[in-house]
Amino acid sequence: MLPVRILIIEDEKQIARFLELELKHEGYGVEIEYDGRGGLRKVEEYEPDLVLLDIMLPGINGMEVCRRIRQFSKVPVIMLTARDETTDKVMGLDIGADDYITKPFVIEELLARIRAALRKNIQHEKPQKNLVAGDLRMDPSKHQVMRGNEEIELTKKEYDLLEYLLKNKDIVLTRDQILENVWGYDYAGDTNVVDVYIRYLRSKVDTPYNAKLIQTVRGVGYMLREEKNGD
Ligand code: CA
Repeated sequence: MLPVRILIIEDEKQIARFLELELKHEGYGVEIEYDGRGGLRKVEEYEPDLVLLDIMLPGINGMEVCRRIRQFSKVPVIMLTARDETTDKVMGLDIGADDYITKPFVIEELLARIRAALRKNIQHEKPQKNLVAGDLRMDPSKHQVMRGNEEIELTKKEYDLLEYLLKNKDIVLTRDQILENVWGYDYAGDTNVVDVYIRYLRSKVDTPYNAKLIQTVRGVGYMLREEKNGD
């Protein structure tokens, strides 16, 4: 079994190093990022099981990092706050942090909070329903996509895009909507990335098959729809 993975986003190198040693000693997998932007990227790439997030970070601060994480991930976030940042704590919980701990902290307390946050997350993970369109089936619990009897291998972004389209079956989605919901925050307002990923997705999900599911809605965006006879 893979170890539970924890991402530390903390600019104070000594604290980050201390946490890394303690967490590795407990058997966790650990990655460190020293600023907000790197931390955000790492949440996407590393897909940690839990994030320890410092508030005062260079560049994007911890609050903003947490807000952005919540746009694309439900990963448990524990904020690391300085002693007198009470308002930050409240705000942190408001924007979707799961817990916070005040620095300086006792490592046993942090470990207990980490275990609690991980447990809570497992309980909250309800079995998810399959998403279906024609002979395309997505099983979120297995992270598996099938068309007929064939399994289709997708990258994480392709999978997220397909999931969003399936959840909004028969609804026309603009490029901006797709960008916001699948990418979470905009890449300098450039929606070309949506067209690029739709192309990738089509080549795997539609091109090899007769019935096409991903429809282009000219001048607007895209829609996932089963082609009916007479369309
Ligand atoms: Ca800091």
